[in-house]
Amino acid sequence: MVQVVLATHNSHKVDELRRILGPALDGVELLTYDGPEPVEDGDTFEANALIKARAASAFTGLPAIADDSGIAVDALDGAPGIHSARYAGTRDDGDNLRLLLTNLGDRTDRAAQFVCAAALVVPPPVGAVGPDGPDSAAASDEDVELATWPGSVLTEATGSGGFGYDPIFRPEGETRSAAELTQAEKDAASHRAQAFTALAPRIAALA
Ligand code: IMP
Repeated sequence: MVQVVLATHNSHKVDELRRILGPALDGVELLTYDGPEPVEDGDTFEANALIKARAASAFTGLPAIADDSGIAVDALDGAPGIHSARYAGTRDDGDNLRLLLTNLGDRTDRAAQFVCAAALVVPPPVGAVGPDGPDSAAASDEDVELATWPGSVLTEATGSGGFGYDPIFRPEGETRSAAELTQAEKDAASHRAQAFTALAPRIAALA
């Protein structure tokens, strides 16, 4: 079994990732990262996903996977975007979605998308040297995949499944909120499913 560390403390994300990656995790032991949290000061989802995966890989010496995700609302110029988790300042899902509903008010343009960047960082083999000779450090192998799930923001929260902004997000072509979808329905379409499905062959190749 090859050990891979998953750089997230969000149990909902861990559950989704295990379901999404499924067979790509054959021969992979997925460990939960409990090291120091890096400062997520990137300007993009991709940058922040790589920051999290690099930190977990550097701390453990293992390949690491991470995601950075959020909701981007067109009428709010893409907000809350990369600030989705701390939008209301409390890290509370209910506070975040209530603030989003308040800020959107009765606007009729409610187009939005969930965004997910999935990152994989694989450390160089022990003893590997970099391109500048024996004293130079070899670089980690890095990959990051970005995916979106288009839809719109509802006027009130509905449904009890999922997590985060799911109760106020209606995926394109749906009549229900993301919190009313079954897990399988969400996994068939979500931003996280698309991003990690794109990364899955790289993860499977580690085993
Ligand atoms: P992160 O953990 O720093 O990537 O923050 C992600 C933020 O976006 C949190 O507020 C999550 O609740 C929200 N979010 C990400 N993915 C989803 C999803 O699939 N459904 C609902 N909210 C999500």
